[in-house]
Amino acid sequence: MNCPYCDNKQSKVTNKRESPDGIRRRRECLKCRERFTTYETISKEDVYIIKKDGRREKFDRQKLEGGINRAFEKRPISKEKIDKMINEIEELIRKKGKKETKTSEIGEIVMKKMKKLDNVAYIRFASVYRDFQDINDFKQEIKKL
Ligand SMILES: [Zn+2]
Repeated sequence: MNCPYCDNKQSKVTNKRESPDGIRRRRECLKCRERFTTYETISKEDVYIIKKDGRREKFDRQKLEGGINRAFEKRPISKEKIDKMINEIEELIRKKGKKETKTSEIGEIVMKKMKKLDNVAYIRFASVYRDFQDINDFKQEIKKL
């Protein structure tokens, strides 16, 4: 990374901070002593989801978060715990090492995690995900808890 002031190639890192968006480095040019910041974004490989109808879609964390957060609405579970769980889910999906994961596999991962955290949120999520048709579906699922 060249210095934006004098175009010198050498700089030293004075500070490094990692954030979810990438690594931020404060640098000092060894020639003119000006300081500047560089960002290095973590390149996450795209993961694709195969939907029930066979369509292929890019894995979208925001979509996953939306569904999960809805299930946790008004539940006494902290945002931190939910975020941590979502991170774990995303990691699991990425760790599979496959470029493609079926929606159903993701659903199973999510439900397993949710069950551990909160039964009510789990049932809510399962009802949407499994497309519960009537009260008996709920009863069946609750029995399994
Ligand atoms: Zn410089």
